[in-house]
Amino acid sequence: MGALTGRHALITGGGSGIGAAIAHAFAAEGAAVSLAGRRLEPLQEIARGLRATAIAADVSREPDCEAMAEAARAAFGPVDIVVANAGLAESAPIAKTTLAQWRRIMDVNATGAFLTVRAVLPDIVREGAGGRPRRIIFMASVASLRGGAYIAAYTASKHAVLGLARALAAELDPAVVTVNAVCPGYVDTPLVDAAVEKIAASTGRPADEARAALARRNKSGRFITPAEVAQKCLWLCSPAADGITGQAITLEGNEP
Ligand code: NAD
Repeated sequence: MGALTGRHALITGGGSGIGAAIAHAFAAEGAAVSLAGRRLEPLQEIARGLRATAIAADVSREPDCEAMAEAARAAFGPVDIVVANAGLAESAPIAKTTLAQWRRIMDVNATGAFLTVRAVLPDIVREGAGGRPRRIIFMASVASLRGGAYIAAYTASKHAVLGLARALAAELDPAVVTVNAVCPGYVDTPLVDAAVEKIAASTGRPADEARAALARRNKSGRFITPAEVAQKCLWLCSPAADGITGQAITLEGNEP
């Protein structure tokens, strides 16, 4: 029996990178997993072989989030754990950040996290769920804690995510549900691949140099792996983390 046997986890942005790693890690511990994202195909690919269902949803759209919650319940019953992971990162100097870009990033990263969690909150705080641990995990970032050049909209959106996590932790009974924000540094995922390409194109630096420079921004000097982030989420779901709520859990590869 796995540590998450009998529990149902909804993970957004589950078709790639960190979300896919969390899906594998949770399923390996026995969880039933609802995987949501914009495109069904990559989600189905990840879901194959797992006790998992794939749900098409754009988290920035309120009706999609409500339908996503319904589809998850229809597959595996009420949701016990939600990981609001879907996100996008775009970079630009502040003077060149368009309103459309600002809104797009805020809509997905901040509003999408809010809509995702609100849609399944009645499940998570329901009566009669017994002693099963219930968890809300936001995929925030070290950009939730400090400013970064050329990523003003992303930084603002991730500060908003951490604020949302802290507010929910204050509002909800910690004996019923814990609420935390995982704050990784640079993680080796398609999101970082896109950032490397953009840096290489705009500065003329070779891609491997741009990649190494990004890794050096982590305190450990290396990229975090998606599996490491997934292990941190698993730990947050364990009894050892029953008393951890309202926290920003940083992950830069140099933690003791
Ligand atoms: P990724 O691009 O592989 O994953 C992001 C996922 O979110 C993708 O599957 C994408 O399709 C999905 N998504 C984007 N917009 C969506 C929308 N409107 N509706 C539903 N799904 C949507 O990159 P990743 O690195 O795995 O990112 C996952 C999360 O981790 C993001 O919130 C990101 O900000 C955060 N994060 C990433 C890093 C990093 O260095 N890679 C660092 C800190 C935090």
